Amino acid sequence: MYDFAVIGGGAAGVFGAVSFAEMAPGSKVAVFERSGKLLTKVKISGGGRCNVTHACWDPSELVKHYPRGSRELLGAFHRFQPRDMIAWLAERNVALFTQPDGRMFPVSDDSQTIIDCFVDQARKLNVELYTYRGVEQITHSDGSFLLTLSDGSTAIAKKILIATGGGSASGGIQLAKSLGHTITPIAPSLFTFNVSDPRIEGLAGISSQDAIVYVSKKRIQRGPLLITHRGLSGPAVLRLSAWEARELQSMNYQFTLVINWTACDPSVIEDTLEKVRNTSARKSPMNTPVANISSRLWERLVASADISAETTWSQMKRSQIQALLGQLTAGEFQVSGKNTNKDEFVTCGGVNLREVDFKTFESRICKGLYFAGEVLDIDGITGGFNFQAAWTGARLAASAASQNTVS
Ligand SMILES: Cc1cc2nc3c(=O)[nH]c(=O)nc-3n(C[C@H](O)[C@H](O)[C@H](O)COP(=O)(O)OP(=O)(O)OC[C@H]3O[C@@H](n4cnc5c(N)ncnc54)[C@H](O)[C@@H]3O)c2cc1C
Repeated sequence: MYDFAVIGGGAAGVFGAVSFAEMAPGSKVAVFERSGKLLTKVKISGGGRCNVTHACWDPSELVKHYPRGSRELLGAFHRFQPRDMIAWLAERNVALFTQPDGRMFPVSDDSQTIIDCFVDQARKLNVELYTYRGVEQITHSDGSFLLTLSDGSTAIAKKILIATGGGSASGGIQLAKSLGHTITPIAPSLFTFNVSDPRIEGLAGISSQDAIVYVSKKRIQRGPLLITHRGLSGPAVLRLSAWEARELQSMNYQFTLVINWTACDPSVIEDTLEKVRNTSARKSPMNTPVANISSRLWERLVASADISAETTWSQMKRSQIQALLGQLTAGEFQVSGKNTNKDEFVTCGGVNLREVDFKTFESRICKGLYFAGEVLDIDGITGGFNFQAAWTGARLAASAASQNTVS
């Protein structure tokens, strides 16, 4: 009889098991992992460097980075937040450093450091780690859980944590359903946009350090925007893909994206264009007067405004200036399809948040059942927020589940 059995040996699962074992010394804890390896996503995360968390200490600021789950995480972050995770790692000799954009990585710059730390702790605390042991079925009766494993064996536990990750591949979705939970439909989040458009054709690698993008004016995103071989990427696009995840899925990833390449109010750019028109009357408009726009992109936008290279600023008609202004500040691009962002991808959807008590991460439907990580309908934008949600959920679930466990 395990005191605590964890289903899924990923970020939330292993950290949850170690946390439980720390809080209830001498308890019997196991992790059952379906695949042949533990912590596979930690290994590949952050390009192999593992963006562990984000340097944001104010829970009400932190929750702004979660398109789904921000309300539920607010109280949880008051109890276990990035600072607590950093301290937990530091106590185990893993130091982190902060990049200027707030992302935090191990000083080794190697995700293996995090894996080694977790696995060492698990061994020290006698947590049993099993691979190739997927949990296929769970039945709950008389206050305990019977787990049927993929090798045909069974295990019994007083309390369980489902931490099977997100997406349709997550085995936890079916298990949660079988225990009475409803599932919010799954949708991808954090993806790039496929765009085939002469304005950006052949400009892969060119970026705008500060752009505004939106599909609906209700959800405007601002930040660096990158042209890729297949279309558009960069933080502004990834954030938009997360905040609009459900809407874009419902449009089957066919939609019109509006880009303001300058991130400035159109009236400011209009003034700039009028000034240049007066001061550079005889010059060709092919040199960009707008900071932040690369000359190659500028040339394309000028051509799209139907202005030829032979024209001079003084020859430009008012309608051409307006067309250029439109290209610069409200260019419309047809998106047809999405692509995986290589740095990080997550899914939204999962266990319905109304059915979980976020003080403890315990199911409101089935006592003794806990959830943590991406199996819940919680997801963050890129920057270490997804792992932080996993650490926080796992820690609070372990803390609640370990109460009254006899040492
Ligand atoms: C390429 C990539 C890079 C990323 N980089 C970052 C980053 O730098 N920072 C960040 O914050 N986030 C990052 N993320 C997101 C982050 O990895 C996830 O949000 C996080 O791993 C979720 O943790 P989890 O424990 O819920 O799920 P996972 O880490 O996915 O673990 C779930 C585990 O459960 C197992 N499992 C599934 N079903 C069963 C079953 N029935 N029985 C037993 N085991 C089962 C799976 O095999 C898996 O090992 C990245 C994601 C990807 C894909």
